[in-house]
Amino acid sequence: MEVFGSSGTRGIANEELTPEFVVRIAKAAGTVWGTDRVALARDTRTTGQMLADAAASGLASVGFDIDRLGIAPTPGLQAYAATEGIAAMMITASHNPPEYNGVKLVGADGTELTISELERIESVLLEEAFDRATWDGVGRTNRIDGANRRYVQSLLEAVDRDRIDAADVTVAIDPGHGAGSLTSPRFFRELGCGIVTVNDHPDGRFPGRDPEPIRENLGALRRLVRTTDADIGIAHDGDADRAIFVDERGEYVEGDAALAALAAAELEPGDVTVSAVNVSQRLVDVVHERDARLELTPIGSTRIMTRIRALHTEGERVPIAGEGNGGIVFPDYRLARDGAYTAARFLELLARQERRVSGVIAEHDGYHNVRTDIPYDSVRERDAMLDAAAAYAESADAEVTTTDGYRLDYGDAWVLARASGTEPLVRIYAEGPTVERAGALADGIAAALSAAEAA
Ligand code: MG
Repeated sequence: MEVFGSSGTRGIANEELTPEFVVRIAKAAGTVWGTDRVALARDTRTTGQMLADAAASGLASVGFDIDRLGIAPTPGLQAYAATEGIAAMMITASHNPPEYNGVKLVGADGTELTISELERIESVLLEEAFDRATWDGVGRTNRIDGANRRYVQSLLEAVDRDRIDAADVTVAIDPGHGAGSLTSPRFFRELGCGIVTVNDHPDGRFPGRDPEPIRENLGALRRLVRTTDADIGIAHDGDADRAIFVDERGEYVEGDAALAALAAAELEPGDVTVSAVNVSQRLVDVVHERDARLELTPIGSTRIMTRIRALHTEGERVPIAGEGNGGIVFPDYRLARDGAYTAARFLELLARQERRVSGVIAEHDGYHNVRTDIPYDSVRERDAMLDAAAAYAESADAEVTTTDGYRLDYGDAWVLARASGTEPLVRIYAEGPTVERAGALADGIAAALSAAEAA
């Protein structure tokens, strides 16, 4: 798919991702959907209103009435789509920097479109085979109030509210100025948690931190946990479909460790879980302990969702799936990533086991991750680096997986090199029992790639 990458289409707003392009995406999606009503929301980005207006215009030209939710988390829009039984369009660049924006498409069941559905929309777009309504058939816009409140209500009904309330925890929340600012503080307050917040006003300039909830962006949340004696810190990305945690000591929790802990609580013998090719050894270990099965996909939530659907069709039970970036799916709740729901399930786990975050996470420690990005300026440079990765894999004493990029498994550690689907970067991931081991593996392949890029 050239238009829809691993998780929707994204780019620098008004430069790569223009309103003209969003109009075409909207017309193509509308042509394929072929119904008469659609929902539309955006995250907090400064370009969100402009691009949502473009999307509304394109959808109206095909003949759709548009329910405009304004700013809402992606999972909130998905909940609305599922309840109303209508497709939806989300204007968001998720975790990408403030200058980016993008489009995510959601089906009438509230789940992300599958790859084959996206391919149909893409071919309409590329062939410009758009439907067009007559002058008296164009759609109109309905402003929807209260969708965020109803989303919070649905979350409250989906989790073990009594157990979380009884645990009497204080939660530090960092929605990072994103769409979760409008929902997560309210949700955890209504769950009966004590609440402290940082970066909690919606602001598309993201003045407090970048939208990606990674360690280097969560200094303020870690300080907040320490100074307030909170039991846990919860951070979201720009559209709040991800949750990353900080433990009660203010220490950053690796997303891989949180995923492993949640999976350990969910998986039973014979279950299947799905993750991406950069999966952590921590989840691999849990899957072995639980006598479950792990399936790997290329990186990106669309791939994971598509695989879960296929497994469901085959009658497999998939209680949990996802990636170590905080994007976790509980398919029995909804085939969608939901940062607030994920965090509440983690609170349930703590309450049930009567343990603190650090205690739960300690069981999934013992691995260290290193990630490096190598930017490139041209497709030629990118391809030179990927060729170098292939050659490096060929000569390495490791088991090689080529599902998405090159993953080299060394038994005690692994390294992966792959081109990002959303940014001009080759990403290198490594994991090992020590940070030195992981670093050495990352440095080794990075040196080979950099040499090829410069050549
Ligand atoms: Mg996101």
